[in-house]
Amino acid sequence: MNQAKKQGGHSFELYTEALETESIAAVTLTTAIHRALEADEFLLQVQPHVRLKTGRIMGGEALIRWPQANGTNRLPSDFIPLAEDTGQIIEIDRWVLRHAISQKRRWESLFDEPRLLSVNLSSSALNNDEAFESLLEIILETPFERRGLILEVTETAILTDTSAALRRMQRLCDLGVQLALDDFGTGYSSLVYLANFPAKIIKLDWTFIRDVETSQRDAAVVRSILELADVLEYTVIAEGIETQGQQSFLADHGCLYGQGFLFYRPMDWHDFELLLLRQTEGGHNIEASDRLL
Ligand code: C2E
Ligand code: MG
Ligand code: MG
Repeated sequence: MNQAKKQGGHSFELYTEALETESIAAVTLTTAIHRALEADEFLLQVQPHVRLKTGRIMGGEALIRWPQANGTNRLPSDFIPLAEDTGQIIEIDRWVLRHAISQKRRWESLFDEPRLLSVNLSSSALNNDEAFESLLEIILETPFERRGLILEVTETAILTDTSAALRRMQRLCDLGVQLALDDFGTGYSSLVYLANFPAKIIKLDWTFIRDVETSQRDAAVVRSILELADVLEYTVIAEGIETQGQQSFLADHGCLYGQGFLFYRPMDWHDFELLLLRQTEGGHNIEASDRLL
């Protein structure tokens, strides 16, 4: 029955052993997530956002990891979708936001220049009143430089119940934090439509970047998104840059910022701070225009 519901309802599924194995695995994972939250087992890594022309770090994106007994980290794609189904994502979002803000406060004490920190929010953050209010509480409970916090939301999150999401996004903006539209381009909305939303940063999805050097179509799409973003005064951060060709293409077409393995992979906070310290000691202070303020 659950499998049929997942397909959108109005269908049926025959019982198979595979389905039973799948649901046993889901129950086991749900229990493990619950325990991990209680035992504070999750951790955040951070992947730098850089200025494309110079490679200078302007901030970074917090990415959740789940360390396992064998020394590896479990990636979010492995447990976030199930946590969304079970509602555990609300607790995870709270954990992530609280930890990210406390790291951000640390940066504020370490560095003179403000650094931007991006945090991913699930769609329940904008679509569930209780989840939203509890995130607001976390933002309000500690003093920090709010303009330096970027909350990343996806198109699906803002399109589920548009007017409620719009109202909640506006409340976040009123608190002074910035909003970014993650994975931009994977949905169907146009930038012009999105101008109604108070997100002024878009993160261009890696699926467009991947073939930008080989596919004329993708190159044209990226060029036109960048042109329109410029007219509508969006700041664009390109995701998943892996080659120098992609970097030059984007920079040549007016994209200022990016993130990807070409520059840095997600890393532990300590390593990120060392990188920033080295950059500051090298006299590479962040430029005013890098602050997205
Ligand atoms: P996202 O927000 O679009 O994050 C970017 C993902 O792209 C990260 O994967 C990052 O490791 C990966 N990436 C960055 N540069 C490159 C590159 O050059 N090449 C390739 N192939 N990949 C690159 P990750 O950490 O596995 O996260 C996947 C998704 O899980 C995220 O996509 C985000 O939607 C979600 N997620 C991650 N952390 C959190 C979190 O704390 N809370 C919530 N709610 N979702 C999270
Ligand atoms: Mg993101
Ligand atoms: Mg993304």
